[in-house]
Amino acid sequence: MPKRKIEFIGKGFNIHSVSGHDPIIIKAEYVGPVACPDCNSKQLRVKDRIERLIRHESFGRQKSWIRLIVRKYHCLACNRYFRPRMPGILPYKRSTEYFRREVCLNHRDGISQAQIRRNCRIGTATVERWFHDHLELKERMFSGRKCSEVLGIDEHFFSKRKGYVTTFCDLKKHRVFEPAMGRTHDALEPFLRGLKGRERVKVVCIDLSSSYRAIVRKFFPNARIVSDRFHVIRTVLQHFLAGWKQLDPEGRRNRGLLSLVRRHADKLRPDQKERLDRYLDAHPAISELYQAKESLCRLLNIKHRTKKQSQPLIRRLLNWIWKLRYSGLPAMETLASTLENWSAEIACMWRFTKNNGITEGFHTKMEVIQRRAYGFKNFANYRLRVIVLCG
Ligand SMILES: [Zn+2]
Repeated sequence: MPKRKIEFIGKGFNIHSVSGHDPIIIKAEYVGPVACPDCNSKQLRVKDRIERLIRHESFGRQKSWIRLIVRKYHCLACNRYFRPRMPGILPYKRSTEYFRREVCLNHRDGISQAQIRRNCRIGTATVERWFHDHLELKERMFSGRKCSEVLGIDEHFFSKRKGYVTTFCDLKKHRVFEPAMGRTHDALEPFLRGLKGRERVKVVCIDLSSSYRAIVRKFFPNARIVSDRFHVIRTVLQHFLAGWKQLDPEGRRNRGLLSLVRRHADKLRPDQKERLDRYLDAHPAISELYQAKESLCRLLNIKHRTKKQSQPLIRRLLNWIWKLRYSGLPAMETLASTLENWSAEIACMWRFTKNNGITEGFHTKMEVIQRRAYGFKNFANYRLRVIVLCG
């Protein structure tokens, strides 16, 4: 048996015998210090002895139980009858804290409640209750913390009935700060009003969502809004594909060409590049569109610039917006208005490297949390798990 486990039984406990294979039965008696809980007197008389069966943590795959002899005392000073408190076993509990911790950690690491029920022979409701207690205890550690200086905000699907959750992510420390129900101004307002340290937020990263932008402007007065690079480039690509469809619907349906066009030009193999060039040579209008997309994406991918260094980049962006607006293609005109609408936030993107990739990564993890519980109905339960497991 590992040493620590013996020590726990040994601390204030006398072990009488260890027998059995699975389960292992440990016969023990508590002989540690005892005092009256009311008057703290040590003038006690042993009134009775009873045997309690207490579940203890597993030794490898073997389950273990403690047959614990517990004395009942009579306090001669104040006349009270009581059973002593013992380390590692809470009053009225029929399992040690070690066993509870084992169950909670197993569940946290992805073993389902049903599997724990089979392995440990305890009900799923018990697992849920213990795990909930464990999370609540952990959550208290997070309760007083203030808003991070760099936040990422993004939405995440919660349930059909309740809709979306907005995730507030600490991009500096790479953890979820808080999930909040809803994604509109009205739904998030009560949460945001109560948020501590809103004024110290300096940078907020969002995708191209006007409603989030309005929310950030209102509730984070000192924050600079940065658009998320991934979303901006995706928007450019989507509009480019729509423009291509308008020019040559036949070519747009070709899966091979589509895959070539979507990649960055410098990531193509020579034979792929030749194939693409052949197509573009035959369609000069599309070729022009393709060049535009490539240089726009290159422009948007620039990072680590100072305020001064981003000045010429802003001019380049405005130039592109102007060109797209007069391209005569409806898809490009929409793209021009979107880029213009977000030009200030895009300009910030060159100066800050933070992006919502972290938030998106947490969304994947949050999906796993949801799936493991086969979905949540209760947002408070879900929030507790997200904060403890992703916080
Ligand atoms: Zn007493």
